[in-house]
Amino acid sequence: MTSKNIVVTIDGPAGAGKSSVARDVARRLGLSYLDTGALYRALAYTLDKRGIPPEEGEPLSSSLRSLSVALVSGKVLVDGVDVTDLIRNPLVDSLASRYSALPSVRARLLDIQREQALGGGLVADGRDMGTVVFPLAPLKVFLTASEEIRAERRLNELLSKGQADVSFSSVLEDIKARDRSDRERPCSPLREAPDSVKIDSSSMTVVQVVERIVSLAEGARSDE
Ligand code: C5P
Repeated sequence: MTSKNIVVTIDGPAGAGKSSVARDVARRLGLSYLDTGALYRALAYTLDKRGIPPEEGEPLSSSLRSLSVALVSGKVLVDGVDVTDLIRNPLVDSLASRYSALPSVRARLLDIQREQALGGGLVADGRDMGTVVFPLAPLKVFLTASEEIRAERRLNELLSKGQADVSFSSVLEDIKARDRSDRERPCSPLREAPDSVKIDSSSMTVVQVVERIVSLAEGARSDE
């Protein structure tokens, strides 16, 4: 890996601001951005649509064997169908959290995620980037914020997309349930990698978090 091809991982709970931050950090460092949540969302959305229940067994294994999942210019294609605009809503939040707890689903997406780093450096956000997918990444960030702040940000995001049937309390409950499921699943749970830098963004702006990570990445690049 050349110093240009650095991998930066950003893990953390739902609503911590990972995707906005990761996208901006990638742009600033001239790296590509890998949104692994979009892969889990796309797969969960498609499996649910096809009536495959979120449990291990033959229906799930054969679907996972036959499905193709691809990332093309920031779009997620499942069996050639672009689902990018269909996967950002509370229903898919909860489906993704259920399907992503299954070992065979995680195994199916592992190589796809790693392959993205073959073409150059990247900034990858998710739950197990620093612990499982890119354990040798030279910079690992664990980005978090209080539950209330994360719920407030998520609520504003949904309202700005025109989703009117949401309330602060329903979003907060949703965030707590997703956190519980992501932290307590036996396979690749959400954990802070021991060598990660923890950033609490509760009282920071996106710009401040981006600046901090860019400066950490520049330090890590010069050590490479
Ligand atoms: O990050 P995002 O909210 O889009 O992720 C949706 C869901 O996908 C998460 O709640 C989590 O259950 C799952 N996920 C995961 N591992 C990742 C990325 C996402 O389990 N690396």
